[in-house]
Amino acid sequence: MAAGPAGPAAAGPTEADWAAAVAAVRGLPADGRVLLICHVNPDGDALGSMLGFGLGLRRLGVRQLQATFPGPPEVPEPFRALPGLELLVPAAQADPAPDLVICFDAASDSRLGELADRLTGPGTALVLDHHASNTGFGDVNLVDPAAAATSVVAEELLARLGVTLDAGIAECLYVALSTDTGSFRFDATTAAVHEMAARLLATGIRPGDISRRVFDSRPFGAVRLFGEVLGRARLEPGAAAGHGLVWTYATLDDLARHEQRPYVLEALIDPVRCTAEADVSCVVKQTGPGEWAVSLRSKGATDVSRVAVALGGGGHRLAAGFTGRGTVDEVVEQIRAELAVSESSGGAGRPT
Ligand code: 5GP
Ligand code: MN
Repeated sequence: MAAGPAGPAAAGPTEADWAAAVAAVRGLPADGRVLLICHVNPDGDALGSMLGFGLGLRRLGVRQLQATFPGPPEVPEPFRALPGLELLVPAAQADPAPDLVICFDAASDSRLGELADRLTGPGTALVLDHHASNTGFGDVNLVDPAAAATSVVAEELLARLGVTLDAGIAECLYVALSTDTGSFRFDATTAAVHEMAARLLATGIRPGDISRRVFDSRPFGAVRLFGEVLGRARLEPGAAAGHGLVWTYATLDDLARHEQRPYVLEALIDPVRCTAEADVSCVVKQTGPGEWAVSLRSKGATDVSRVAVALGGGGHRLAAGFTGRGTVDEVVEQIRAELAVSESSGGAGRPT
């Protein structure tokens, strides 16, 4: 089907949006085929909200159900104990024409890579997301920029479908919620977030075990790789309107020398953004020749989503990313320049 109404969804889903989403699921034929898709290089919220919702659909009796994401079908180690992994299929095996497609945590169809064509098939496309920059690319869009994670939207839709939480669903949604709130540390950690966490914990899941697997466990080679990459971090106190920039990079050669997979670098932004002297932190991760996945974070003074969007990416005000091209120095220079634009336009620190 064609894309639905585009544009920002600042106010979150309307009652009509929720009703349309419930109808899309309830209206499936008895043997209806459902395809769940989350964004490329899936993180905890992408995988957790998708698999948790998938397990909920199972509870509703949906049998023809696949979950997938674009790119290599490799689940990062921290998420290899998630319930519902059995729903996953490689992108190449994803149903070409499902009756219902549901997308998780993707702000635009470009984040769905080679799977974006599933949205234009004969079935209904339902989008669950929490990025303010979401383009409204579904037939039905449940986009709540006030939600701390896509899993908040997923839990609400499961409730409206009458699905009771079980431990499997809860573990998936808990991983999603805890990763996107930085273990309940970010400002997005509202009372409602803790109330949702309480509902999830009430199913008997073990937060200590889950957190250790997801946040506090990595191969020794990755520990040494982090040491090397942190050792070459640069601090630029004058950048970002004097709020400061700290950055580092990791190449494919670094990964190969330490025999590590690319996803171990996802956690690298956390020790980098600890830098007290910088509002903006950045990790530039090589993904191919002259191609880099860039992670940006701000402590509050800078809108890094504006920088990321200007450079072809997206994200949130305090956490964003884009694909950089050229040398590391060229990519960092682009970031410096965008941070300077932000300053001269008076937009630093202001959500757009
Ligand atoms: P991370 O740095 O953890 O990869 O991503 C931080 C945030 O930026 C997430 O919300 C993620 O969805 C978004 N993001 C990261 N890279 C890209 C990108 O290349 N394009 C877009 N549109 N968003 C991105
Ligand atoms: Mn998310």
